Amino acid sequence: MAIERTLSIIKPDGLKKHVVGQIISRFEAKGLTPVAIRLQQLSQMEAEGFYAVHSARGFFKDLVAFMISGPVVLMVLEGENAVLANRDLMGATDPKKADKGTIRADFADSIDANTVHGSDSLENAKNEIAYFFRETEIQKY
Ligand code: UDP
Repeated sequence: MAIERTLSIIKPDGLKKHVVGQIISRFEAKGLTPVAIRLQQLSQMEAEGFYAVHSARGFFKDLVAFMISGPVVLMVLEGENAVLANRDLMGATDPKKADKGTIRADFADSIDANTVHGSDSLENAKNEIAYFFRETEIQKY
């Protein structure tokens, strides 16, 4: 199996609920190691740029407003099949449809406030990691 890196974001609702530690514990328990981590208040431009692929969608404005409603935790996770493994831990976009025991089923309130972001392909992971992190900020241990 391939060792991959993926971008994870704990969204503002996750910080406001004080479940950052629980979420990171789930990653570590499944072999997803945080190799870069930063708590950051995104600017409107940063959030719009990150979600540019959704800019024509009806939910875009609300999504950006939500993502800048408080700080987020930005992380690079590394591990075997990290992209898919992270998506499995996250659960479906809509927490009502997410499998029991996933992060979104357990912590998220709604499709808008769904607690975590995770890259959905290896190619997107590379671009999303580069959007927030320089290679020198990514550690090995
Ligand atoms: N989103 C939303 N309403 C929708 C669809 C998506 O608010 O009807 C938000 C939601 O926060 C989601 C993000 O837009 O996490 C990006 O959507 P995507 O389809 O890429 O879902 P994800 O990859 O986050 O599961």
